[in-house]
Amino acid sequence: LLYNQIQDLKGTIRVYCRVRPSLSSESAEHSVVDYIGENSVIDYIGENGDIMVVDRQKHGKEARKIFSFSKVFGENVTQEQIYADTQPLIRSVLDGFNVCIFAYGQTGSGKTYTMSGPDLTIEETWGVNYRALRDLFHFSSSRMDLIEYEVGVQMIEIYNEQVRDLLVLDGANHRYPTNLNGLNVPDASLFAVRSTEDVVELMKIGQTNRAVGATALNERSSRSHSILTVHVHGRELVSGSTLKGCLHLVDLAGSERVDKSEVVGERLKEAQHINKSLSALGDVISALAQKNSHIPYRNSKLTQVLQNSLGGQAKTLMFMHINPEAVAIDETISTLNFAERVA
Ligand code: ADP
Ligand code: MG
Repeated sequence: LLYNQIQDLKGTIRVYCRVRPSLSSESAEHSVVDYIGENSVIDYIGENGDIMVVDRQKHGKEARKIFSFSKVFGENVTQEQIYADTQPLIRSVLDGFNVCIFAYGQTGSGKTYTMSGPDLTIEETWGVNYRALRDLFHFSSSRMDLIEYEVGVQMIEIYNEQVRDLLVLDGANHRYPTNLNGLNVPDASLFAVRSTEDVVELMKIGQTNRAVGATALNERSSRSHSILTVHVHGRELVSGSTLKGCLHLVDLAGSERVDKSEVVGERLKEAQHINKSLSALGDVISALAQKNSHIPYRNSKLTQVLQNSLGGQAKTLMFMHINPEAVAIDETISTLNFAERVA
């Protein structure tokens, strides 16, 4: 608890940067060299959360720029290390805080790797989602003598500014009675869960539902936001007082800009919706960071749905994902500029 309190003093918005390893075949052989080498856009990563990128199309001072984060994670950082720096936020949910964790970045930059991980069957590779749930169950059971916790899960996706419930089974909604304070989607199914296994089962269902009706899972998933929401309801056994906390784990749609002259029809519509919702998110977070009196929640479905968990006492963590390869430089700079705006 003391650790959480210390973290609380540091403010409610944190922005981390994670650099994905280079995946191109030639650089894979000597990735450490290449990482700071000719094909990489990363010049260096400082211990204090600075990262310097280099745009090799430019020259002199223009080519290099430093961006500052709460933390920067280089390519060799493991899922476990990432989680270690996320854990204090997760635990604060059990103290009654609302928390949002976002994964931002262009398609292929590692958002899903950070949030879910590459392989559900190998626990060491688990991303923040599964580790968070495992930790919540573990930590809540260690407090069992003092507080009785109930945990409920929802999963939705936002595609073209429309919300889809990902946990609809057989066309029926499943709910259990508790007052929700987290997700602003009154009719999304809510499942009570008792173990990490329960959650894994539900997430598999959610993933399957996500693919339905889409051309291909990857295609669709890169153009929709998916939100896994965990509701925690605690009751102190002695006093009978209750607390509610809520955790949103958000894998955002790919942030890449599409060339308007090249895309038409459905693709253009998708791109415009993504654009609009990501900039609305940026506007909300930067308004919160600057402590503005007006927070523009109404400008996108994403910010409306998460309104109760953005601002106030709520905590926000954003992982900005970087692809270090030279071909991605424009998107990398755009991601870093976005981060600079919200930090
Ligand atoms: P996104 O969700 O942003 O589109 P993914 O998470 O699917 O990107 O990552 C793209 C590819 O890069 C995947 O093959 C993934 O396994 C790999 N990858 C991403 N981040 C890492 C990492 N930190 N370490 C190793 N491989 C990674
Ligand atoms: Mg993804």
